[in-house]
Amino acid sequence: KTITADDIRTSVKEENVQFLRLMFTDINGIIKNVEVPVSQLEKVLANKMAFDGSSIDGFVRIEESDMLLFPDFNTWLLFPWENDHGKVARLICSVHRMDGTPFEGDPRNNLVRVIQDMKDDGYSAFNIGPEPEFFLFKLDENGEPSMQLNDKGSYFDFAPLDMGENCRRDIVLELEKMGFEVEASHHEVAPGQHEIDFRYTDALDAADHIQTFKLVVKTIARKHGLYATFMPKPLHGINGSGMHINMSLFKGEKNFFYDPETDTQLSDSAMHFLAGLLAHARALTAINNPTVNSYKRLVPGFEAPVYIAWSGTNRSPLIRVPLARGLGTRLELRSVDPTANPYLAIAAILEAGLDGIENKLTPEEAVDRNIYRMQDSERKANHIQDLPSTLHNAIKALEDDPVVKAALGPHLYQSFKDSKDLEWAAYRQSVSEWERDQYLELY
Ligand code: GLU
Ligand code: MG
Ligand code: MG
Repeated sequence: KTITADDIRTSVKEENVQFLRLMFTDINGIIKNVEVPVSQLEKVLANKMAFDGSSIDGFVRIEESDMLLFPDFNTWLLFPWENDHGKVARLICSVHRMDGTPFEGDPRNNLVRVIQDMKDDGYSAFNIGPEPEFFLFKLDENGEPSMQLNDKGSYFDFAPLDMGENCRRDIVLELEKMGFEVEASHHEVAPGQHEIDFRYTDALDAADHIQTFKLVVKTIARKHGLYATFMPKPLHGINGSGMHINMSLFKGEKNFFYDPETDTQLSDSAMHFLAGLLAHARALTAINNPTVNSYKRLVPGFEAPVYIAWSGTNRSPLIRVPLARGLGTRLELRSVDPTANPYLAIAAILEAGLDGIENKLTPEEAVDRNIYRMQDSERKANHIQDLPSTLHNAIKALEDDPVVKAALGPHLYQSFKDSKDLEWAAYRQSVSEWERDQYLELY
């Protein structure tokens, strides 16, 4: 699909678009919007929209604050729900300096760079199928999120227990209107928890989709008097929310992970790629699980991975190889959570896997038993390491991993690290309810 400036002009007229929302993503994965009236259309199309980058986390210093937004025409989309004051359309943009050069601190530009390197190596696409999970909480009388779940349903439950079902259905319908191909949607294990899976697309589209998806989910939830959160572990004692990432590497029209001639029908390259993910797993965790709260999810007992291992049959490890073969041959990375900046996460995952192929890394044997039931000594004998248990440990692992650092580039790496160091320092100083419950009266 290629959308031209003229297609956009036509669409603006035919659909009576009144506002243009220019979207980009900051270092923390937060969507930023510059909304302009349609009178600015020509300026937008000519890459002339400027904005103040100094107000954005991880962007630029005050002295070089003006930046330009270059819209990617292929991301032209009408929001189906906002028509009170005329329609709103959006364009996802990349951030450029005033002299027109791409800005290295823009996570989307970085993913474009990493994908181009991959293409220069002879691959045609890195396909990504995400499985984001989220919770729906009730809004209180003031329209603020409460900690009250909206239902008592659980995995694959049917109405009337699953009251979030209408909301979820609405979300799926809106997504389809916006051109998403939704493959599955269901209630998850925890009460109030839902999952919507979309069909794989290539890496850049997938990252754009994930960002748009979050916006749609939050918007529709509000219409149902609910608040949608992608926080990884909003409630202790029940499952958290992950965002499993299914991935495959294509050469031409062929899935490079598939080889009908081997025992497993996985190609040698698929195994090298998998080994790359395992070898860089600790550093990847910093990018894929970038908040203090992310590590409250990565604990035993809630279907989230804790150990660095892979399996073809077992669902508990970090990487699973689903049964599909042929074009659908893929690896599923189960650690990622929805607070990950998708542009950074996909770039880092791709570089880790390609490093495995380049250096012909081979993975340890698959672990088809329940790793959680093993003794420590048994895990050690099987060379099964832990994922980092805190954001602090993950950032330390990232510091020591030149491949994952290079996937971000020096500018993004530095702003990511600075931002996370601040977050960790703030967290260390806080005293939680758990601590008071444990210690206040005991000591
Ligand atoms: N909610 C689980 C997690 O934290 C995943 C459940 C599933 O297998 O879909 O990753
Ligand atoms: Mg799930
Ligand atoms: Mg999954």
